[in-house]
Amino acid sequence: MNATKTWQGEAFWGLGYDFDPQWLLTPKQQKLQADLIELCASVLRPHAIDSDRNLVYPRRNFEALASLNLLGLFVPEAWGGLGENHVCAAMVVETIARYGCPSTAMCYTMHLGATAAALFRAHENPELQSLLQRLDSEVLIGSLSYSDPETGSHFWYPVSSKAEQVGDGWNVSKKASWTTSAGFADWYIVQTTSPEFDGNYSDLSCFLIYGDEVKAEPHKWDALGLRGNQSGTLHVDGVTVPLERMVGMKGDGVASNDEIVDPFFLLCSSACWNGIAMGAIDLAKQHVTRKKHIDVGMRVADYPTIQDYFGEAIIDTNTCRSFTFSMGKLMDDLTNHCDWSIHADLSALPRSAYLHWYWQIKFAAAKNVAHVGDKMLHACGGSGFKKDMEIERYLRDGKAGWVMGPTNEVLRQFVGKLALLGIESLDYWNQTVNERVLHNELKKLDSEAKRQLAVQLLQEAEAEMQSVPKPLAVSTV
Ligand SMILES: Cc1cc2nc3c(=O)[nH]c(=O)nc-3n(C[C@H](O)[C@H](O)[C@H](O)COP(=O)(O)OP(=O)(O)OC[C@H]3O[C@@H](n4cnc5c(N)ncnc54)[C@H](O)[C@@H]3O)c2cc1C
Repeated sequence: MNATKTWQGEAFWGLGYDFDPQWLLTPKQQKLQADLIELCASVLRPHAIDSDRNLVYPRRNFEALASLNLLGLFVPEAWGGLGENHVCAAMVVETIARYGCPSTAMCYTMHLGATAAALFRAHENPELQSLLQRLDSEVLIGSLSYSDPETGSHFWYPVSSKAEQVGDGWNVSKKASWTTSAGFADWYIVQTTSPEFDGNYSDLSCFLIYGDEVKAEPHKWDALGLRGNQSGTLHVDGVTVPLERMVGMKGDGVASNDEIVDPFFLLCSSACWNGIAMGAIDLAKQHVTRKKHIDVGMRVADYPTIQDYFGEAIIDTNTCRSFTFSMGKLMDDLTNHCDWSIHADLSALPRSAYLHWYWQIKFAAAKNVAHVGDKMLHACGGSGFKKDMEIERYLRDGKAGWVMGPTNEVLRQFVGKLALLGIESLDYWNQTVNERVLHNELKKLDSEAKRQLAVQLLQEAEAEMQSVPKPLAVSTV
């Protein structure tokens, strides 16, 4: 284990390794972490300030990350990547957010999610294989474009999208309301309804779309935090791409979401929120141990109230970190340390069985970061309110956690509903009839209103039978 954490060759000014779960990392991962902390000190952190003040996209930070081969973090070694695992991905994202730049950490989270989606279905796809082998050498940044303007944080429901086969290609249309790195990424994994869509929104497909095939509006991006993240709109305006640009099979979208996009996004974004919380604690420690009150002869750190703030913030954040790394370890155990060859069997979906656990880590980490940011600001007093201390930037960046889809409102309801009512009750695609609500509402109608409703329903049923068949409700709760 590294004994001393360094920062530009000197002892680090925040919390040392004694408050980090180093026992989870291999010696190789610990060396990578130490190198990355130094890169954060010299390159990423100065750029973070510029990104925040001037809304600058952190491409320079990605160039620095590529110098450590981090864009291909879990690309197999045979393809020129580092061949690393899920625990390592969580460590790298947390490290970037904590010591370097939270905006970069979130763009990198989306890059890892897109990379994982590509690796999942790269086995017989030369286009994906070629891309994955050039990530670091050409600094090819990826992102995930899912969220739809019409369905808000229900990002699994892309109503403003379609895809159809035209000759030897797919014609892809997609309107996304939010896409991290929009207009700056070199490639995107985009989710649409499947070709030959018949009204069933659970029939989804994924496509690889390159940067020169999208329209973005970065000039409209201006936000409270993660200001370098540039999560703007993205428009794929009826672009025709070759057949091999479909990622996986037609209709593979749900498998890809449950096995890859959600697990990787939830793991890495949780690590990002944990890193921001630790970053705020580091900054606050530096301040409270230096600032003195001459009248009472004490430093701010000498007040028990301040010590309590730090004790609670460290305990809560390390609870979230342990929970997050535990999910990384689970995914490593399930996949033989992120061995992509298991997915040569297209039905292998080991990560997806634990989705409800990944929901929990994101909820906990996003809730914690906002609280810790607040408390570290309180601990620093008025000094923390000023920009030069950087606490206020970490506070603003951390606020993105709660509202980023799946939002914390959605997550806690998913977990509670699943525990109480079972998986069908989640009804992602609005297909399950809630008979209890339906009958309760019907009870409120008088006989004339019931008759009118019956006539209207019969007319609708008649019209539907004469048009394209609509999917039936799958079950009832
Ligand atoms: C910094 C940032 C980066 C992002 N990057 C990406 C990206 O790279 N790719 C991508 O696809 N998307 C991205 N998103 C989008 C994100 O995933 C959500 O889609 C988006 O934040 C939803 O915003 P909205 O205003 O539409 O919220 P709304 O959906 O309108 O939510 C408003 C409120 O309603 C609540 N709510 C919504 N649905 C329910 C429900 N079913 N039950 C209870 N409450 C509910 C919400 O929790 C919230 O409190 C990003 C968002 C942010 C903030």
